[in-house]
Amino acid sequence: MSNTSTKVVVTGAGGFIGHHLVAHLKKQGYWVRGVDLKYPDYRKTEADEFEILDLRRSDDALRAMRGGIDEVYALAADMGGMGFISSNNALILHNNALINIHTMEAARLHGVKRYLYTSSACIYPEYRQTDAAVVPLKEEDAYPAQPQDAYGWEKLVTEVLAHHYHLDYGMEMRVVRFHNIFGEYGTWEGGREKAPAAMCRKVAMAKLTGNPVVEIWGDGEQTRSFCHVDDCVVGIDKLMRSNYSEPINLGQDRMVTINELADLVASIAGVKIEKKHIPGPQGVRGRNSDNTRLREVLKWEPDISLEAGLARTYEWIEAQVKAKLEAHPELAASVAVGK
Ligand code: NAD
Repeated sequence: MSNTSTKVVVTGAGGFIGHHLVAHLKKQGYWVRGVDLKYPDYRKTEADEFEILDLRRSDDALRAMRGGIDEVYALAADMGGMGFISSNNALILHNNALINIHTMEAARLHGVKRYLYTSSACIYPEYRQTDAAVVPLKEEDAYPAQPQDAYGWEKLVTEVLAHHYHLDYGMEMRVVRFHNIFGEYGTWEGGREKAPAAMCRKVAMAKLTGNPVVEIWGDGEQTRSFCHVDDCVVGIDKLMRSNYSEPINLGQDRMVTINELADLVASIAGVKIEKKHIPGPQGVRGRNSDNTRLREVLKWEPDISLEAGLARTYEWIEAQVKAKLEAHPELAASVAVGK
């Protein structure tokens, strides 16, 4: 089958990774239907069709899958950075369980052949991530399970659901565990943003207002790896084309501390910052991806460096901050004097 005759649905197509994925799949020639509660925030969608639907509802999920869809990329989720995830456990477990159960069942009822579910590094047990110098996480480290938050538990349950849909109904399943995806055109303010976007915003504020103080949750020695979204969508595409149906990591395996992330962004911005460590949710102490299986299965791994990815992301976020400060000069004045 040529790409042009393949019909795909991307759920969460109004979100960060989803809207980048739609653009990537369109470039490959697929016919794409995007589904979300909202349109993309910062750019027009490139989807052939875009429907506003609530996938917590089974009738909406069935509507999303109608019309001879071949493949589904299931990205819809109620999610955000550590601040949001750690303080909305009931809401996240409730909403995401409904989204995933209805979306997968609707795909089955409509005879969808391939289904890709986006899981997360948040499924890995807390007891393997207590040290900043963490041993990189292999796929089999998921059990015995002890994710830190309900977000991770729900992802794990949906991984199990995908496994059984594959075994019981013969649906081709792909399950990808993302490790901190970042990039341009993603949430950068409002409470749902993740560490790289938040850091870019804070450093841009420091640069544009002249107040050098950048607040960091905790001592900043917690570690993570970060993967640019352009690598992420290539990895998703390659995984869908593979015949691998078990969960697989997708991320970078270069670990940095949050303090190092701040310094990197500051050097990209060309500004001197003063890090102020304040109490706040930090998530696990250390997390890194073991990419052995990714390399074996896809013969590929992400290759956009953190420096290159952050430079592009920072440039975009600085432009957003600048526009906001110009629209609200009173904000600039209060930040400049550290209010
Ligand atoms: P995002 O929040 O930008 O996108 C998720 C989208 O799902 C949003 O546009 C949201 O409106 C939509 N959505 C929420 N509830 C919905 C509903 N009831 N019906 C329809 N749409 C709904 O997040 P993202 O960063 O693009 O993440 C995409 C997927 O990847 C999610 O499943 C997320 O859990 C997973 N993931 C992301 C990361 C990361 O670093 N960004 C890491 C691990 C896993």
